[in-house]
Amino acid sequence: MTRVEEVLAGMDATRAWQEELYRDLHAHPELSSHEVRTSAEVADRLTAFRYDVRRVGGGVVGVLANGPGQTVLARADMDALPVTELTDLPYASKVTAVDESGGTVGVSHACGHDVHVTCLLGAAAALAGAREAWSGTFIALFQPAEETGAGARGMVDDGLTDKIPRPDVAFAQHVLGHEAGVVGTQAGPALSAGDSVRIAVHGKGSHGSMPHLGVDPVVLAASIVLRLQTIVARETRPGEFAVVTVGSSTAGTKSNIIPDRAVLLVNIRTYDETVRQRVIAGIERIVRAECLASGSPAPPTFEYYDQFPLTDNDAEVTAKVSGAFRSHFGESRVIELGRVTASEDFSRLPDAFGTPYTYWGLGGFGPGQPLYPNHSPYFAPTLQPTLTAGTEALIVATLAYLGQAA
Ligand code: ZN
Ligand code: ZN
Repeated sequence: MTRVEEVLAGMDATRAWQEELYRDLHAHPELSSHEVRTSAEVADRLTAFRYDVRRVGGGVVGVLANGPGQTVLARADMDALPVTELTDLPYASKVTAVDESGGTVGVSHACGHDVHVTCLLGAAAALAGAREAWSGTFIALFQPAEETGAGARGMVDDGLTDKIPRPDVAFAQHVLGHEAGVVGTQAGPALSAGDSVRIAVHGKGSHGSMPHLGVDPVVLAASIVLRLQTIVARETRPGEFAVVTVGSSTAGTKSNIIPDRAVLLVNIRTYDETVRQRVIAGIERIVRAECLASGSPAPPTFEYYDQFPLTDNDAEVTAKVSGAFRSHFGESRVIELGRVTASEDFSRLPDAFGTPYTYWGLGGFGPGQPLYPNHSPYFAPTLQPTLTAGTEALIVATLAYLGQAA
């Protein structure tokens, strides 16, 4: 038996409780930074698997020291989304919550973080149950609030680097709209850096019939929205990647009132820090110039929020893990992920330690099952082979580093 086979020998028993746990987590989703029930469940299980369990910044970390060797960290995110689930699954979420604006929203695992938690607990159990098959330290890290970009930073700010051993390598995975049973790897930039900015520009209020007595922020905002399109079209080198989206533009209340301000919400995605800085500088330059052009009475303000770092997979780690995946899953089940324009905050965790990492995609949809993107109210990965493949992927990647006798 290989090391991987030794660890996977107990998977039949694991699979049964994993499916039950998954349905339970799916039916009990919790919004970002409110993962109370989920983190308690995770901590209880890790304790039962005899991990040394620590609470850090709203997350839960289980450390299993198993002799000399390297240290591997695997991470799962725990939070759900303010999305009302529209699937007809027997375990569909019926949970509602009050959001930040005071309204009632449906809550569901529309991004599949319940898959991630279930797979990592399965891998943690399998590794704990076959200690003789490997040597080193395994860290199972469950983080809150990925969707808001606050969770990984919160754990780092709470002293993560002082509270757990420094990992030599770190992994994370995400269930995506690929075929279930497949894993997708990608060296280098895999997920984009994401930035949001709230831009307020000032006008001078007036009667709608007397525009000459005011400064119209609606026209100003409209000019900005159009001019911002030139950052990608005219200022970014063809072939270089950047997205600039104005997702919201608000001003005014009535047709016959010229308001005194407008607010734009702009989203930015990039794969390269130089490009990112250039795009941000371009946005600020254009906004300031348009304000000047319109005679705006006060300078604009820029408030950056929901910022996600670049996910830049280490080439060596990715090659080693991809090779281990190919020998375990077979060539046909390991695909090239390609660059994904979505963003993640996972990389803040390994970056805090200066640890190389790789982040891979996990297929979640059976043949003939309609493919819905993450965050869709219909997003519902098939239980199997998704859970088993995700669990095996974590074990196989971990044993690529810890599977040798020390
Ligand atoms: Zn998401
Ligand atoms: Zn997600």
